Amino acid sequence: MLEANLAPMWVEKNGVGVVVVLHDMTAIRRLEQLRKDFVANVSHELKTPITSIRGFSETLLDGAMSDPDTCREFLQIINEESLRLQRLIGELLDLSKIESKQIHLKMEPIRIEQLIQSVMKTMEERFRAKEQQWHIKIDESFEVEVDHDRFRQILLNLLSNASNYTPPGGHITIEADRQAEEWTCKVTDTGIGIPKEDLPRVFERFYRVDKARARDSGGTGLGLAIVKHLVEAHQGEIEVASQIGRGTTFTLTFPFAKKDRNP
Ligand code: ADP
Repeated sequence: MLEANLAPMWVEKNGVGVVVVLHDMTAIRRLEQLRKDFVANVSHELKTPITSIRGFSETLLDGAMSDPDTCREFLQIINEESLRLQRLIGELLDLSKIESKQIHLKMEPIRIEQLIQSVMKTMEERFRAKEQQWHIKIDESFEVEVDHDRFRQILLNLLSNASNYTPPGGHITIEADRQAEEWTCKVTDTGIGIPKEDLPRVFERFYRVDKARARDSGGTGLGLAIVKHLVEAHQGEIEVASQIGRGTTFTLTFPFAKKDRNP
């Protein structure tokens, strides 16, 4: 197999010429494997909630309905699993739109604290329910230009993860800072952390460190893949640093649009 990316070549022998086209089979096979893995992952992710919905509804129909407590418990599971399916399909469609560049960002100016406060307002109830403390750190206010809805989506994803993977009593902090040419936004938690060897893979579709735990938290395994694409669509970068048992920090860095530099 050939590793290089090869362009068509003109080869001449004894005055006779032919065009030789060599395909890079390694790259083609790798892409084909990625496509197969993706389809297998999607099928598996869809099958799991469907199996559970079928199992519990059949048990109810087979007679478990006569006990009101069992009935309520099973219906609750069916409801949760169908919500998971809905979330998964929504995120798959969103990811496919983002990956095929079918989204158009509507960049508009906004004060950073206004953006962060509105996102934290949405999260407050969840933090409170999990007995987590939350903090906002913005030393100096500044204006940024982002797609408001998509940027909210980025921050909500990171904050939901922070909440999901942080035990009660933990702290979740969001901070924003500006430098001369760029600005940063960080989401830090004091949660379970991510092992070093998993860090480079957490942005892959369906990659989960602890499958059972991520599943229990209701996650689809697509959140960070979507976040990374959306950050890049804003010309930004995302980095993650983590220590097991100490916590995790996601750092987003964006260039200032020229007219943002002097707020
Ligand atoms: P999920 O829907 O499973 O949370 P994500 O794409 O959002 O999927 O995240 C991928 C994986 O990265 C998660 O399953 C989890 O193992 C890990 N992860 C993400 N954020 C955190 C965090 N703040 N702390 C610990 N682990 C995290």
